[in-house]
Amino acid sequence: MQKKLAILGSTGSIGRQTLEVVDGFPSTFKVELLTARNSVELLAAQARKYLPSKAYIANPDKRDLLVDALRETRVQVLGSEEEMIEALHEEKVDMVVSSLVGFAGLKPTLHALEAGKTVALANKETMVVAGDLVTRVAREKGAIILPIDSEHSAIFQCLAGEEEKTVEKVILTASGGPFRGRNRKFLANVSAAEALNHPNWKMGDKITIDCATMMNKGLEAIEARWFFNLDPSQIEVIIHPQSIIHSMVQFHDGSVKAQMGLPDMRLPILYALAYPSRIKSSFPRYSPLDFPSLTFEKPDADTFRNLSLAFETMKKGGNAPCIMNAANEIAVEAFLRKQTGFNDIPDIIAYALGKVPFISKPHLNDYTESDREARHYARERIGSPDWGRSE
Ligand code: MG
Repeated sequence: MQKKLAILGSTGSIGRQTLEVVDGFPSTFKVELLTARNSVELLAAQARKYLPSKAYIANPDKRDLLVDALRETRVQVLGSEEEMIEALHEEKVDMVVSSLVGFAGLKPTLHALEAGKTVALANKETMVVAGDLVTRVAREKGAIILPIDSEHSAIFQCLAGEEEKTVEKVILTASGGPFRGRNRKFLANVSAAEALNHPNWKMGDKITIDCATMMNKGLEAIEARWFFNLDPSQIEVIIHPQSIIHSMVQFHDGSVKAQMGLPDMRLPILYALAYPSRIKSSFPRYSPLDFPSLTFEKPDADTFRNLSLAFETMKKGGNAPCIMNAANEIAVEAFLRKQTGFNDIPDIIAYALGKVPFISKPHLNDYTESDREARHYARERIGSPDWGRSE
């Protein structure tokens, strides 16, 4: 029996790599739904190749282009977000791959869980912003959430066959990004192009900048908290520049398990798609002899302040991670557009955290409102005329 997939955000980096994985196993996986925000040409090309039942482009100005491009096919172009969400509920969808970028991933992911679907989650903001709500809905509906992020996939694989109560802590590994070992003075003048030059992983722009600022690891720590029901004190981050150990779990008898492999996103994607089985692949193999030295360092949370901010908001809980995430999205966008400096990113986030009122037990509409307010204050901080680039 083929597993039928709805891929949300199919034109992004994870979406494209998911389709690459599907290419290798045409009798195992079938694409039912493809969605994108803006990239209409690529979405149309994907839809012509994979012939899903349905396709959806979020930008309404691009909808006619998609309809035209798929006129000769039997792919139905959905006309609204409501229709797209309805399509997620359909019986023929077995798994929803949530590879949207940013806060926009939350709503469709929640709907997929409410429909009781297995969700393969690459969108970290869903867990960061509303992990409490998302895990509760999944529990209530008996829906499974599988991690696609390499670190969480590693932890998930280490936990196979283990009891939750025996977990002492998880050790999230981070490559350290392109600016590992640099100080704040150096970072004051780095460009977006330099920040986009990640040493090990090939990813989208937003996440690559987040790796350079260490926000990515902060978001992953919060994500791990919800995925694996951990206390913040049970999460440790260490720098591992070779990106071979994707994360580790320490158990209460003192034993540590690590999951290893080449830094190739297709591995955690395939693990999630095939779960609970493992499928034989022809991906390149990891050999320890090719990496004779695996090294580890303590992260520099004073230079990379985003990491401290993430741990602070994780401990605070409520809408704090939501505010941080939204301000970070705006700050990263501004950095990519050369409107702000690298070291300003944590300042912008701290400013938004100081401005948006704290809510300890937020509902979905509180998250939406906090997200909106945080974006507003982040923009205000970026546009402030008496505010230059910080050292
Ligand atoms: Mg990761």
